[in-house]
Amino acid sequence: MITNFDFKKKFGQNFISDKNLLNAIADDAGVDAQTQVLEIGAGAGALTEVLAEKAEKVVSIEIDKDLKPYLELVRVNHPNVEFIFGDFMRIDSEEIESHFDKTYAVVANLPYYITTPIIFRLLEEKFNISSMTLMVQKEVAERFAANESNKEYGAVSVMLQSMCDISVTRIVNRNMFFPQPNVDSAVVNLKINFNKYNIPNREMFAKVVKAAFMWRRKTLNNCLQMGFDFEKVEVEQIIAAAGLKNQVRGENLSVDDYIKLSVAVENHLNEKN
Ligand code: SAM
Repeated sequence: MITNFDFKKKFGQNFISDKNLLNAIADDAGVDAQTQVLEIGAGAGALTEVLAEKAEKVVSIEIDKDLKPYLELVRVNHPNVEFIFGDFMRIDSEEIESHFDKTYAVVANLPYYITTPIIFRLLEEKFNISSMTLMVQKEVAERFAANESNKEYGAVSVMLQSMCDISVTRIVNRNMFFPQPNVDSAVVNLKINFNKYNIPNREMFAKVVKAAFMWRRKTLNNCLQMGFDFEKVEVEQIIAAAGLKNQVRGENLSVDDYIKLSVAVENHLNEKN
């Protein structure tokens, strides 16, 4: 474990050194000798090493060049590891994908300040990935996996579940990290499944979901009026066409309901024009 390093809070540097936990993360991801892995945030390379022992190859991105000396040591014993130094959010997808010759798995103890942007980038730019197994803040993992009967359910839950099969594989106490953060964590597994639902227009779907959760205390009818500049009666027709009740709230709708709703909004707009 490295302790004499100048840890940078702004980069979300909370490292793990417990071998059992590191092995468990790799196992939750199903990493085996045929798996190619993308890690985001190498840190001092503790997870990278464990992944390298199990995987065909590991490509690991790290923003902090001060960690280079530690990561060079990892490469000495693990020639199947490649490091890219830079900000994951700014590196071209082509450059990252050039390191792989087949579909790969993302495995990472993510920097928490940037969890959601990283996940949405990987999904929206359609990186050639099969799954993401990620250490994230516990509440964030619960939000990802929540359904319409949980209070954590939100736009992020709907958007991620429309593209992935999601399960929380373990809860991890804050004392497993150094420096210790002031929140607990969880490992969440997201299996990419773009064909899970038939969503005719993903852009419209995203717009409807966003509007429905934008104003928490309002009914769906109010949210759609405000989000799309519709009249009340127009929204009543849309909600009825989607087979939903007019007084319903966004947090009570399933992914299927949102698909029906986005189709009804699109049909309504087409009829109007
Ligand atoms: N994998 C290591 C471990 O488990 O011990 C470190 C995990 S630590 C939570 C997150 C790491 O991501 C840090 O090393 C941090 O410097 C790095 N990081 C932060 N922002 C990043 C970014 N935008 N792109 C790449 N790496 C980043």
